[in-house]
Amino acid sequence: MTASSAAQAAYIVAALLFILSLAGLSRHETSRHGVVSGIAGMAIALAATIALATRSIAATGVALLAVAMVVGAGIGLWRARRVEMTGMPELIALLHSFVGLAAVLVGWSGYLDVEAKGSGQHEIAHDLLGIHHAEVFIGIFIGAVTFTGSIVAFLKLSARIRSSPLMLPGRNYLNVGALAAFVGLTAAFVASPNVGLLTAVTVVALALGLHLVASIGGGDMPVVVSMLNSYSGWAAAASGFLLDNNLLIVTGALVGSSGAYLSYIMCAAMNRSFLSVIAGGFGMEAAGPDDRDYGEYREITAEETAELLKDASSVVITPGYGMAVAQAQYPVADLTRRLRERGVEVRFGIHPVAGRLPGHMNVLLAEAKVPYDIVLEMDEINDDLAATSVVLVIGANDTVNPAAAEDPGSPIAGMPVLRVWEAGQVVVFKRSMNTGYAGVQNPLFFRENSQMLFGDAKERVEDILKAL
Ligand code: NDP
Repeated sequence: MTASSAAQAAYIVAALLFILSLAGLSRHETSRHGVVSGIAGMAIALAATIALATRSIAATGVALLAVAMVVGAGIGLWRARRVEMTGMPELIALLHSFVGLAAVLVGWSGYLDVEAKGSGQHEIAHDLLGIHHAEVFIGIFIGAVTFTGSIVAFLKLSARIRSSPLMLPGRNYLNVGALAAFVGLTAAFVASPNVGLLTAVTVVALALGLHLVASIGGGDMPVVVSMLNSYSGWAAAASGFLLDNNLLIVTGALVGSSGAYLSYIMCAAMNRSFLSVIAGGFGMEAAGPDDRDYGEYREITAEETAELLKDASSVVITPGYGMAVAQAQYPVADLTRRLRERGVEVRFGIHPVAGRLPGHMNVLLAEAKVPYDIVLEMDEINDDLAATSVVLVIGANDTVNPAAAEDPGSPIAGMPVLRVWEAGQVVVFKRSMNTGYAGVQNPLFFRENSQMLFGDAKERVEDILKAL
């Protein structure tokens, strides 16, 4: 067997492991296996690629490869160990930007390589050069959009820039214009390739990525992150064509299509139009300031909450981003155990975009060993909320906002939410009357059956445990 066919065989094994990984990651119970398959697949892929590369490059090239890998792996390990669960989406966004940048660099070097060798002497047959040029162009375009888009997403998620949408006049025309320019430039480049056109498409794509994501508001950021995940996959697949690497094509397509599908599911969960989100907030209107009078809110103490829970027959806990910030999942798990021992039925209601990344709450609850069978999805629990004695809203805000269901003028109108206000009593754990991620006021806090339990969610749940 030649080295190349051994590497191709290794690539097939790695591709199968990636597919197994995705299958494993789709369920709680099998997610660890999914992660292990992914690591194994990546290890095989790296080993095969390095073995193949070291046969054709000089010693200095091998040394550079080793240095790059050690530095990259070191930074990756350091960041991954330090990152908080709440910082995960921004880290992911940043990593997507690297994929985008890599695709841009691969595209540029793919073109410069052909130029340097002269089309006559290059191994690419003359007839296929047009296709090669189109690959270069498309790879650079998707890569550059992913690169700047992901950086803006990173800046928004880490609150380094405001999360509200940038509303430039004629923004839809800007996006459509950039796409039209891309099509025109591609045709010109295939006919007569030159560095000027390549520079032009890089600049147009960098600007488009920036504008697309800057135009998308806070509430839609989860979809943007998974959409950029999809773009980064297609950028990697484009690089795979250029580098003639089948594994990169397969992996890129897996990431691209699963990211697109996840974005679609999330749009359905938030009642957002998929097309409107991927087209940079196409058709969305900017919301004006909200100066309505919502009335008075009432406060409750931890001790009073404990009394409420003692008398309850059924309790539903709807966690959100605040539970992650406070790291309250451990006392919440203790509270669940204690209440169940007393014969109270306790269940969790998880909104599809609670927290800052899909599955965020499920991961935290699993970490604290809350049994899977009492952790229900929004659609599974919503109809039971009216018959629930007490709902504990722990650090959630947008995902339990009745305005989404009742106020057509609300910026989050139409987003399906947990209908916690239908329950007998609602206790909301948060530190202040501040708004949630989408920046909109929540009329739930002012309802007759709602009471606010102010303070850090972890400390307040511990206080309730003491009082119990
Ligand atoms: P929100 O961001 O709407 O609200 C979280 C609430 O937690 C805040 O109102 C905050 O209030 C409170 N909080 C913060 N820290 C603490 C603490 N230490 N103790 C107690 N409370 C705390 O969260 P949700 O989970 O309800 O909604 C998620 C939002 O994030 C949605 O708008 C969603 O679209 C968006 N999003 C989701 C992503 C995903 O994939 N899941 C990704 C990106 C965005 P206070 O400051 O007063 O304490």
